[in-house]
Amino acid sequence: MSDESVVGRQTALQERARAALAGGVSSNTRLLNPLLIAERALGCRLWDADGNEYIDYLLGQGPNFLGYAPPRVVEKVVAAQRDGVIFAATHVREIEAAERVLEVLGDWAETMRFGSSSTEMVQAAIRMARASTGRSVILRFNGHYHGWVDNIYSRDGGPQAAPASPGQAESALRDVLTIEWNDAQAFECAVATHADDLAAVIMEPIMINSGVIEPAPGYLEAVRRLCQQRGIVLIFDETISGFRLALGGAAERYGVQPDLAIYGKAMAAGYPCAAIVGRRELFAQVATGAVTHAGTFNGNVIAAAAVLASLDELASGEVYQRVGVVGTALMAALRACADDLLPDLRLQGLPMAFHASFGTGDEPVTSYGQLKQRDQERYSRLAVALFDQGVWVARRGIWYVSAAHTDADVTETVDRVAVAFKAFNLAAQS
Ligand code: PLP
Repeated sequence: MSDESVVGRQTALQERARAALAGGVSSNTRLLNPLLIAERALGCRLWDADGNEYIDYLLGQGPNFLGYAPPRVVEKVVAAQRDGVIFAATHVREIEAAERVLEVLGDWAETMRFGSSSTEMVQAAIRMARASTGRSVILRFNGHYHGWVDNIYSRDGGPQAAPASPGQAESALRDVLTIEWNDAQAFECAVATHADDLAAVIMEPIMINSGVIEPAPGYLEAVRRLCQQRGIVLIFDETISGFRLALGGAAERYGVQPDLAIYGKAMAAGYPCAAIVGRRELFAQVATGAVTHAGTFNGNVIAAAAVLASLDELASGEVYQRVGVVGTALMAALRACADDLLPDLRLQGLPMAFHASFGTGDEPVTSYGQLKQRDQERYSRLAVALFDQGVWVARRGIWYVSAAHTDADVTETVDRVAVAFKAFNLAAQS
């Protein structure tokens, strides 16, 4: 079922896609996987244009935490949009959605704004931090992703951030520093050198984009303490972790509160919506209009209804419990299967998001430097072997588990995985 072997409608559509859309896709992240032409999806299953069925662990890069087209959410969103979708005004549902989001996040989350993508919410956070501190420098970390915009997208290295893509203006990164994450000493050192210029520190509080690496004990607390002492705005980019690790995301799981946080993906059950949330004083100038934040589609009714419907599903905590059980079972079953067939395959992370890699050794991966030792090319080939057996995973190693995955799906997945592992081993021998 890989893109090389599919014949028929899928092949014709791939050709049309490549002609009509640059590279056949609308986001470069989608170039990282085989070009699958999706027809429909429901729960944890996705069907391509030839009717091939996949058990999905990509979840649209994360948003479909409740599974595809969760029926109660779809009903509520469809009903809501009959009232009109976008107004040059504040909609009742927008207020309700904001109140619910703030309520579940806790006391530190005093006010917020909605947007359509996390990329733009990160931009709002950077601007607000600079405006409120009167400083310009942003400290970020290797391996973390905060959108593709010129002033934050940077290649590995540092401390001076440098463009990761041709066409990026180098000057846009002049005030951005990059250091290693999960290294309290490196952080202290950067703050000691640059504190007077530092407006904000931005991080994924658990590095899900690179290896699903959890913060070392005490690390987030140390960062929080120093930011507090030096008047630096601490921004948690919870685009992936938010509403997925727990209702209150990584801040709740690790018990450390940011000044500002970015949410998206799991917050709105697959509908496009993002948010910036935080302390009221940081929003003061946005509230008066002195600091600009805008967006035609911000807070639209579809997004607000999706947030409300998603929170209706998540509020009881039952989803987290279920994903925890199913994800743990999946990780254990994959481990057992790998022990037999691919003993050097390493799995690490959490039941709702974990990472698989080759070549990272037996010890837990705790740093980006360690993760970079992985054999990415070999894992990519394994991801294609899995795809060929109807298991849709990201080539870069992440597996997402949704509320729609069941124990039966885990059993079926592992049957398919065993076939894929054997085929992968055979191909390696030939
Ligand atoms: N921040 C993080 C941590 C992300 O993982 C992503 C996207 O995957 C973004 C920001 C950008 O989000 P969006 O694609 O909604 O602009």
